[in-house]
Amino acid sequence: MRRFNAHFGFEVNKDLFQADNLERLRELKKIIPLPPYLQDLAVSAEETLTRNPWIFGRRASEIGYSNFLEEVGQRNQKFFLMHSVLQEPAYLPTETPRLPGLDGRRMAKSYGNAIWLSDPPTEIRTKVLKHMMTDPQRVRRTDPGRPEVCPVFAYHKLFSPRETIAWADQGCRTASIGCVECKNAMADNLIKWIEPVQTRRKEFEAHPQQVWDILDAGSDEARKAAKRTMKRVRNAIFKSEDARKRPSAAAGNAPGGS
Ligand code: SF4
Repeated sequence: MRRFNAHFGFEVNKDLFQADNLERLRELKKIIPLPPYLQDLAVSAEETLTRNPWIFGRRASEIGYSNFLEEVGQRNQKFFLMHSVLQEPAYLPTETPRLPGLDGRRMAKSYGNAIWLSDPPTEIRTKVLKHMMTDPQRVRRTDPGRPEVCPVFAYHKLFSPRETIAWADQGCRTASIGCVECKNAMADNLIKWIEPVQTRRKEFEAHPQQVWDILDAGSDEARKAAKRTMKRVRNAIFKSEDARKRPSAAAGNAPGGS
């Protein structure tokens, strides 16, 4: 995303940058103010440009290099203005970034390895006990296991209380518990967690209009937020608020104005 935006407005044209244009590229770098985290991009841009030339819509030779560099500067200035207006979402890591499917692979409908939010408790327990894989190296009850590679333990971490997680972790490593015991404890906690979700789901199924109302209200909020964001963007790029406050400019630009 950043890489794309850093070169926003550039188009590929193989004719432009040859090795002897390196000097101009260095000049280009000087007029583009880059924050520290993008400095390395400038270096890679220079390398990329020499091997894989880039240009704006028109050929630089047609518009002259000084105009070309000016245009680059303006476009980059716009990019950094945008960057200061739009907030990049932060990455929030969790302890369980990915919940595996019953077979340990990514949970997917096409793999048939999912536990559905709509599955009744008996179905959940059957899926866990009969189909959820465990540590493949724990072949016998007396073999110590590795909870970190076991999908059952991944579910424990998300749905079980701390003491149960510690019990499963320690019991698995020391082979003091069996997998069936461990799975049953996890299924108990998963069912407990899913119960209120299923109750609400049934309520909504009985009142579909409520769902549409929630979706409509959410869409209204999103529309308002998008409008506010676009206003900030237009103002940063085109100074639209300032222009709006200049009645003489508005009159001058109006049809028939002088
Ligand atoms: S004891 Fe629990 S965590 Fe260990 S392998 Fe068996 S199911 Fe997995």
